Amino acid sequence: MSADFGKIIILTAPSGAGKTSITRYLLNKYPDRLAFSISAATRPPRGNEKDGVDYHFMSVAEFQDRIHKNEFMEWEMVYEGKYYGTLKSEMRRIWNEGKTPVLDIDVKGAIHIQQQYPENILSLFIEPPSIEELQRRLTGRGTESPESLQARVNKAAYELSFKEHFHKEIINENLEQACKDAEEAVLGFIGEG
Ligand code: 5GP
Repeated sequence: MSADFGKIIILTAPSGAGKTSITRYLLNKYPDRLAFSISAATRPPRGNEKDGVDYHFMSVAEFQDRIHKNEFMEWEMVYEGKYYGTLKSEMRRIWNEGKTPVLDIDVKGAIHIQQQYPENILSLFIEPPSIEELQRRLTGRGTESPESLQARVNKAAYELSFKEHFHKEIINENLEQACKDAEEAVLGFIGEG
């Protein structure tokens, strides 16, 4: 993996902090230079999510098989019983297209990749203005059961304590400004092009 290792951009945050919106903004603005890293996941698809577009959805058995075959760059059990991971093949696919992969992954996975591959990585930590605001956003999204919501809020409070591990912290008080801040950091990393 290391010989032809390209650049990687990681956006990480507690769930509901807005990293997916910021990721989408960057990908829409620079489609010729950036590409979304499609993670593998064992949770079921939500809403309009499509296999091979939002995630590579797979069974726990397949995921574990791929762990044993060393096919993941990183993987985590993000929520009880649910695996998520970044496939090495996904990085290669994107580098071969001459683009930089953008990873929207959880805090532990992000720390893990940085430790393993300290070079050529830009990591952005997206921070919600407050835990109360995060709870409001997750409730408004309407995708979580009360138990899942509480689990995500508890996890968020814990994850906020890791923010100093990342290259840049972006507080998502105002989404437009947060997108601009992320864009500036990304262009500093991949060049103005
Ligand atoms: P969701 O179920 O809401 O799509 O994602 C749950 C969490 O898993 C989010 O924080 C998301 O960023 C994270 N996640 C998605 N893909 C990966 C991955 O490949 N690796 C890791 N470590 N986390 C991921």
